[in-house]
Amino acid sequence: MFDENCVFCKIAAGQIPSKIVYQDDDVVAFEDINPQAPHHLLLIPRRHVASMADLTAEDGPMLVSLFTTATKLARDLGFDKGGYRFVTNVGPDAGQSVFHLHFHLLGGRKFAWPPG
Ligand code: AMP
Ligand code: ZN
Repeated sequence: MFDENCVFCKIAAGQIPSKIVYQDDDVVAFEDINPQAPHHLLLIPRRHVASMADLTAEDGPMLVSLFTTATKLARDLGFDKGGYRFVTNVGPDAGQSVFHLHFHLLGGRKFAWPPG
């Protein structure tokens, strides 16, 4: 549930500062400290899950919350019309650096495909 060595567990618990833009019982959304786009938020479950690879069927409602929160934030912050990207990195080849599941919500510019 809470991993005392995990920076995102501490953000969710309010133990280290962050710019939280939305939170409820299941989900926290906050600004990425090193933004890669005009809008760059991170969406996490409160519950510690190391990555997408550790999800189970029981996490279905939490995942729906993450996705619906992302679409609502993109709308509310006004970058839904141009489009946006919602992505999670898993493991070293993808560049995962924090081992608490998080989705990057990126918007406000054009994104290349394929990604680097
Ligand atoms: P990833 O490389 O996919 O694991 O993404 C981790 C993201 O977390 C990076 O974009 C970092 O800039 C971001 N990050 C790391 N520490 C913090 C923090 N304390 N507050 C906000 N964002 C952070
Ligand atoms: Zn954690």
